[in-house]
Amino acid sequence: MLMRLGRWLRLVGTDVANPGVADDPELVIRARQENRILITRDKRLAEVCRTAGVECILIQSTRLLGQLNEMAELGAKMELNPQRCTVCNGPLRGAVKCASDQFLHERTWECLVCGKLYWAGSHWKRIEDTLKQIRSEKDYP
Ligand SMILES: [Zn+2]
Repeated sequence: MLMRLGRWLRLVGTDVANPGVADDPELVIRARQENRILITRDKRLAEVCRTAGVECILIQSTRLLGQLNEMAELGAKMELNPQRCTVCNGPLRGAVKCASDQFLHERTWECLVCGKLYWAGSHWKRIEDTLKQIRSEKDYP
């Protein structure tokens, strides 16, 4: 239910697993095995985590911006940091220049797992603006 937030967290360099269709006990076991913090809006799941001793972040907001603000308050760095593929969470590496839409892009990254290419195009400016807005709301240094 927080997949959009997950993709944004990957944009700022966080390793975020996509649990897929796992049920609650499975999620908690997987979080423990992979030593991950479970992020959820489900109060009951958060309670299960607490009982099981798995670290959990209970998100309140139903909106993406609100959710990002909550993560920023918890110390997540809201700066574009291309290290993780937003689609598959695979690690990215700097790629050679790539051409798209008849433009040659200098800053490009390639997913080592699924091969998706990323480049600092016009959509990056929108992402950066959103992150800047969150930083300004949170008195970031
Ligand atoms: Zn990928």
